[in-house]
Amino acid sequence: MSQQYPENSYSFDDFLQWRNNADYYGEDPFFQKVIQYYAEKQWPELDKVAKKISPRVSFRWKELSEAAAVPEKQPYIIHFDGHNHRIDRIVRPQETLILEKEVFGEKLFADSTSPFEKLVKMYLIYQNGEACISCPITCTEGMVALLEYYADTPELKKILTHCKDGINGNMAIGSQFLSEIQGGSDVPANIAEAVEEDGTWRIFGDKFFCSATHADYAVVTARPRGSEKVALFVVPAWLDGNKEKEIRNSYTINRIKWKMGTSELTTGEITYNGAVAYPVGPLDKGVQCSRHCPDLFPAHRGHYCCCIHGPHYQGSNGLQSQKVCLWFDNRRFPSGQGAAYGNGKHCQAYHCRNF
Ligand SMILES: Cc1cc2nc3c(=O)[nH]c(=O)nc-3n(C[C@H](O)[C@H](O)[C@H](O)COP(=O)(O)OP(=O)(O)OC[C@H]3O[C@@H](n4cnc5c(N)ncnc54)[C@H](O)[C@@H]3O)c2cc1C
Repeated sequence: MSQQYPENSYSFDDFLQWRNNADYYGEDPFFQKVIQYYAEKQWPELDKVAKKISPRVSFRWKELSEAAAVPEKQPYIIHFDGHNHRIDRIVRPQETLILEKEVFGEKLFADSTSPFEKLVKMYLIYQNGEACISCPITCTEGMVALLEYYADTPELKKILTHCKDGINGNMAIGSQFLSEIQGGSDVPANIAEAVEEDGTWRIFGDKFFCSATHADYAVVTARPRGSEKVALFVVPAWLDGNKEKEIRNSYTINRIKWKMGTSELTTGEITYNGAVAYPVGPLDKGVQCSRHCPDLFPAHRGHYCCCIHGPHYQGSNGLQSQKVCLWFDNRRFPSGQGAAYGNGKHCQAYHCRNF
C-alpha cells in the first residue's frame, strides 16, 4: 500500500531531532529578555541559574516526565495490605518518584531561593507539563504562603520547615482539599465538620476533588461544629512515626479518579473520619481569607501559579507548535509555497502574545 500511495508516508524525525536537543532556556530568547528586563541587577546570577538547571529540565526531567505519562503507568491505589490493614497506599511509577525527589530537592520555597530564582525555575519546570509535579509545586507554594503568615504553633512551624527546607533530607509536599461534591467551587457550602475534643481538632466528612492525594499535608476547609463559618486547617497525611507503618491520619482514600488529562497526577476522593487537624488563622475567616488576604490564600496562589502554568504550556508549546506548523505546512505545500504561510510567524506571534 505504501508503494501505491507514497505521498501518505510521513516521519516526525526532523521535528524530534530538534525537540530532543532543544534546551528550553537556550531556545527561548524572549524569556531571557523578559527576565533580563525585570531582574535588572540580579540578571547575571539568574542567567547562570537558568543555564545550570535548563539542561536537567529539558533532557533528564523531560524524559522522566514522558516515561511516567503513558497510560500503563498511571497511579493506582492499594487499599489493604496482606493482613487486612487499611493502608491506602498510592503507587506511582519510579520515574515520578525520582523526578519528585530531584525537583523538590531544588528547595524552591526555601528562604535561600530568591523569588526571581523560584520564578525562573518554576517556569522551566512547568514546561514538562503536569508530570505529577506542577500541581504539587503549586499546592506546596500555597501552603507555604499561608503558613508563613499564620504558623504560630510548634506543629505548624514544623510543617512549614518541612515544606521549605525539608527534614532529614525529605522535602514535604502540600495539597489543598476544599471542594465537596454538593458545593463544588462554593466553599462556604462545605459540610465537612471540625470538632474540638480535649484541645485537639478533628475533621469528619468527605472531600471530592483531592489533587496531589499523595501529599504529606493538606490545607482543608471545614465547619467548626455549631458555626456558620468555614475554617482552614492543615491536616497531616500521617501523624509522626506513622508514615513508615502506613497508618493514615484517620482518613480513607476511597478512589483515585480516572482523568482524561493530567492523569499522572493523583486526584482522589477522601473521607475524613476524625483526622487530627491544626487550625490556621481565625476559625471564622477560612473563606474570607481568599478575599481579604488574596496573597495568602492557597487557591489564589494556585491561580497565580496557573498564570505561570499557562505560559509554561505556551512557552514550550509555542516553540513546539511553531515547529509542528512548519512540519504540517511542508507536508501540505511540499513544493515550498507554504513557506510564507508556514514559517511559524503566526505561532511566534501567538507565543509572544501569551507570554
Ligand atoms: C482534575 C481536577 C482536580 C481538582 N483538584 C482539586 C483539589 O485538589 N482541591 C480542591 O479543592 N478542588 C479540586 N478540584 C475541584 C475544582 O476546583 C472544582 O471542580 C471547582 O471548584 C468547580 O466545582 P464543580 O466542578 O463542582 O463545579 P461548580 O462549582 O458546581 O460549577 C458548575 C458550573 O456552574 C458555574 N458556577 C459556579 N458558581 C457560579 C456562580 N456563583 N455564578 C455563576 N456560575 C457559577 C461554574 O462556572 C460551572 O460552569 C479539582 C477539579 C478537577 C477537575
